[in-house]
Amino acid sequence: MTEDRPTSLCPKLNKPREFPKRSPIICYDKPDAVMIDRTAYDKARHDALLGDVVLTMTVPKKSAKTWKMIKGDLCRITVIEGSQVGDINIWNLHNPKERFYSGKTRQLHAAHLTTYDRLWSNLPYLRPLATVIADSLSRYGIDEDGGSVHDVIGTRCDNHTIELITGKPTNDSCHSYLTKAVEKVGLTEDDVHDVWNIFMCTGFTKDTHQYFCKASPSRKGDYVEFIAEMDLLVGLSACPQGDVSIAVGQPVPDNICYPLGVEVFRRKEK
Ligand SMILES: [Zn+2]
Repeated sequence: MTEDRPTSLCPKLNKPREFPKRSPIICYDKPDAVMIDRTAYDKARHDALLGDVVLTMTVPKKSAKTWKMIKGDLCRITVIEGSQVGDINIWNLHNPKERFYSGKTRQLHAAHLTTYDRLWSNLPYLRPLATVIADSLSRYGIDEDGGSVHDVIGTRCDNHTIELITGKPTNDSCHSYLTKAVEKVGLTEDDVHDVWNIFMCTGFTKDTHQYFCKASPSRKGDYVEFIAEMDLLVGLSACPQGDVSIAVGQPVPDNICYPLGVEVFRRKEK
């Protein structure tokens, strides 16, 4: 009867420990500092969309591009062909040391961003880089598995982890694409950081809390928009996982990867 044999000298210590039930406390429950004047932002969106289109660009499938925005510009990123997720990096245009901080953004807002949430910069700056002002997938909400879209859960697909998993080197990853794109504007791999995963549907499993993704609900015509809160450099990768319906490390057919469209609108000077 070895099962009954105590594993400690004191049998009392072998009793399963009981933990008292405690209610969750939202750590940062929408502090005033992260809230915005929605009417003013809706007007800013309206003014920008009625202004000039200063950039129209396609990020081809399985690649990344960068672009600049000045404070007040509105950027719209659109699913222009088929369901496709995108990975966004953002830097202060004049100081690339100040860049998007997905972890603090997640704490201040939520794991998935939508209209009127902001994208914050790293410490010690901690300033809004951009504010989300429109989201065609906002009605997706949080699904029965706890999944939602546009996450700031953390990171991007990268060649280093894919090689760790598969044993094979690759240059097909959002990290590699963003690295290649930022090198053209004088930055390096060290400047690529954790992303805002637009159009991607993610969450954590209820039983084991493992990170999951499911096929993006986005379709042709879906878009997100954000307004620049300072002059910005923005990078966008059209993920080689396509709509992310296949686990990372598994082969992804080329024909489920699509480009993304980028437009930047600037309000007319009064
Ligand atoms: Zn990716």
